[in-house]
Order: sequence, then structure tokens, then C-alpha cells
Amino acid sequence: MSSSEDYLSDESFRDRVGFITEDGKRKFIYPKKPSGKFYKYRTWLSYVLLTILFTGPFLRINGQPFLMLNILERKFVILGQVFWPQDFHLVALTFVTGVVFIILFTVAYGRLFCGWVCPQTIFMEMLFRKIEYWIDGDRGQQLRLASMPWNAEKIRKRLLKNGIFYLISFIIGNVFLMYIIGSEAWIKLVTDDPSKHIGGLTAMIIFSGVFFFVFAWFREQACIVVCPYGRLQGVLLDRNSIVIAYDRLRGEPRAKFRKNEDRSSAGKGDCIDCGQCVDVCPTGIDIRNGTQLECVNCTACIDACDAVMDKINKPRGLIKYASENQIANGEKWRFTGRLAFYTVVLTLLLGLMGFLIFNRVKVEATILRTPGQLYQAYEDGTISNVYNYQLINKTSMPIKAELRMIEPTEARIMLPGKEDLTFELTVQDIKKGAMFVYIPKEKLSSGKNTIKIGVFNGDELLDEVKLSFYAPIKK
Ligand code: SF4
Ligand code: SF4
Repeated sequence: MSSSEDYLSDESFRDRVGFITEDGKRKFIYPKKPSGKFYKYRTWLSYVLLTILFTGPFLRINGQPFLMLNILERKFVILGQVFWPQDFHLVALTFVTGVVFIILFTVAYGRLFCGWVCPQTIFMEMLFRKIEYWIDGDRGQQLRLASMPWNAEKIRKRLLKNGIFYLISFIIGNVFLMYIIGSEAWIKLVTDDPSKHIGGLTAMIIFSGVFFFVFAWFREQACIVVCPYGRLQGVLLDRNSIVIAYDRLRGEPRAKFRKNEDRSSAGKGDCIDCGQCVDVCPTGIDIRNGTQLECVNCTACIDACDAVMDKINKPRGLIKYASENQIANGEKWRFTGRLAFYTVVLTLLLGLMGFLIFNRVKVEATILRTPGQLYQAYEDGTISNVYNYQLINKTSMPIKAELRMIEPTEARIMLPGKEDLTFELTVQDIKKGAMFVYIPKEKLSSGKNTIKIGVFNGDELLDEVKLSFYAPIKK
């Protein structure tokens, strides 16, 4: 029997990863089917999240998609709010806020996201793996099937499983495509003449192929090798972060179970070295070695160990959600200085974002002086300057907008070829053109003046623009 310190000082497990054999080949992992309290909760949550994901492209808020990230056309719709290239500062701020939120959240709660919400884990564990258990059976049967020669049973099972995997990958690929181009464009893509949509159809095939490759073969390597979030865990987690941890003080020294033995009197820990926590792990690690990069916090080992503890009449929680400090010193969770710093930054960013979104104009007006034009003086004593305007309806409803002088009130606006100053802006409409502003000379100072033009909807001021207006220099 070894002591707890022997296990802790042996760091050789960090020299290898669960999915690679000693001679450097891919070792396919066949995790045991999980069951237990956490697996049940995760299954329910996954059904909710999958429903949202698959119905999301068809949901509308004020006629706009629930979520659309059209990188190609630089149009982003988040919760029905349309973001234009002019709103880039808001998109950038949302991105920065998201990153800071993830950092803060990880510092406090570890990889809770990976185990409960990450699409990779949900697709893999709650969709593809469940189909695999249904067709190939549990771990033992899967191992037997893998070592079998290619007989009729193996061919039939492999064809059936990969056929279903490809079908689901095709559906997922199409759903992701809808989040990029929108469900209407996707419907057009699949109902129109294929020769008109070669690019879109190619994207569809590539997406489906990538998802099939990831879920049928690549699997846990996506979390361990590719995912940047997973790779950042080493710098984000500290000893107060909540992770899935093995209580080594209670579990060690581990020793096999003997019926009717008083383990405490025999100097043995609660771990009976049954290997259930390892067999059930989808990334092939032994959580008893300590926190590891490969652990996606899927909770399967908690459920497996709790079932063992129930059988040997020991309290549950030998593997549990806890921080390193909690395990080592029996300390309570603490709000660290680093956590306080991230919280302040996050609160400030959220406040700023709320302010910008709340004050986001309904109609954005951009008015710029026409290059090369200074002013024009008329015999009646009026001076005119010429500008180029652009009005964008940022709402998801048609809106009436009128240009009005705010300062000086004696000034007059004229739009060439248009009798009035009102615009009927349809959803996401853009109106642009040239405009003249006339001001009586006596209301102007020599040279550069500042004027204000407003965009109104009835009495509501939608946007306001300050402009330079040039008059002749008085000698
Ligand atoms: S499942 Fe629990 S008792 Fe069994 S080896 Fe893992 S930690 Fe030890
Ligand atoms: S160690 Fe436990 S929580 Fe981590 S990936 Fe393996 S089974 Fe999941």
C-alpha cells in the first residue's frame, strides 16, 4: 500500500495523454455508459439546449432572427437586434465582455461550461455517444466489437452507426449554416436551382464533413488539442477555482475492497481502487491524479464513484465539485483578489454596454461636407454649404424620419429633387444623397461656424449631428 504523498509526488501521468498509446498511436477511448444524478441533470439540460439550438434559426424577434452571424455580409443579429458595420464598437465591446466573462467565470467555477453547456460536449456525449451505446453496446461490448474481425455483424453495425452519424452531422452542419446566412437564405439554397448556389452547397458539404469527422473520429481531441479555452485552463485556474476533484485525504491510501473489513482501523482510505472513475471518463484520464488539462468536467466520474460509495456504505462525494484548497486544507471557498478585479472589470463593461445599447439610435444620421465645396454666396445675402447625408433605419420596423435644423433656427435645408425633408425608411433601409443648407449672412460669424441638424420622428429626436458651416471671412 502506498501513502497519499506517493501518489501526489508521482507526476508521470502528465507526460502522456489518454488518447495516445505508448508508441504514439491513437488510442480510441471506449468510456463506460454514465448514469447517476449529474448525468440525469445534464441530459435534461442538453435537451433544452439542443431544442434552442435547432429551433433558433427559425425564431424571430420583431421580425428579425434570434441569432445570425453573417460574417460574409458583415451583418450580425443578436436577440433580434441588428448590428451594422457602423456598430462595430458594440460588437467589439460585446466580444471583449464575453472574453472577460469567460475568464472570470473560469477563475471561479472552473470548466463548468465545458461539462454542462459546451456544444462539443453536448453533441458528443448526449447525441453521438448515446447512439453509439444503442448500436454498439456499453464499454465491454464496444471493446469486443473493435477487436473483432470484419464479419457481417461488425460491418452492419459500423455502416448503421456511421450512416446515422453522417445524417446528424448533415443536420448540424445545416443548422450552423442557417446561423450564418439566415433560415430564409438557407431555404432558398435548398429549394432553388443548385447551379445558382454552388458556394452555399459546397459550404453545406464541408460543414457536414467536418462535424462527421469531429464526432465520429476526432472526438475528445477537439477539447484537448484544438479548443483554445481548454488550453487556457492552466493559466485561468487557481487553487480556489471550483473543479471536479478527488478528495485524496479521504480516499488515500487506496486499497481493494474486502467484505466486512473496517477500513479506517486497517489504515485504508475510502478509495477501493475499482477503476470505475477511469472507465467512465470520456477523455481517458484518472481524476485521482489531480486536476488535469484533459478533464472537461463532465461529472461522469462523480456519478460513477457515488454509485461505488453507495455500494460500500460510505458517504458520497469522494469525487466532487471542490477547489484544490478545499480538498487540501478543508478551507471554504474564498473571494480572491483576482476574482474581485475581474468582477469590477466585468461590471464596468456590462454597464458601458448597457448604456451604449440603451442609447443606440433608432435612425443613424451621417452628414459630411461634400469634398471640394466651401460655400456659395447669393445676392439676397444668403450663404449655402453643401453636404452628403446618409440615414440608416436600425430598427426592425418602418420609421418616418425628418431632417430639421436645430441651430441656427433661421437656417433652411434643401434636398435637390425632393420637395420635403421627410423619408419613409423601411426596415434596415438606407437613404443617401446631397443636401444644401442656407443661412442668412447676418446669423453667421466670419469663417467657420457650427450648426446642428436633427433627425426627428414627430417630436422625438432620433439623432443629432453637429457640422461645420463656412461663411466668407470678414475683413
Ligand atoms: S470510482 Fe471512486 S472508489 Fe473507485 S477508483 Fe475511482 S475514486 Fe476510487
Ligand atoms: S475526469 Fe471525470 S469529470 Fe473529468 S472528463 Fe473524466 S469523467 Fe469527466
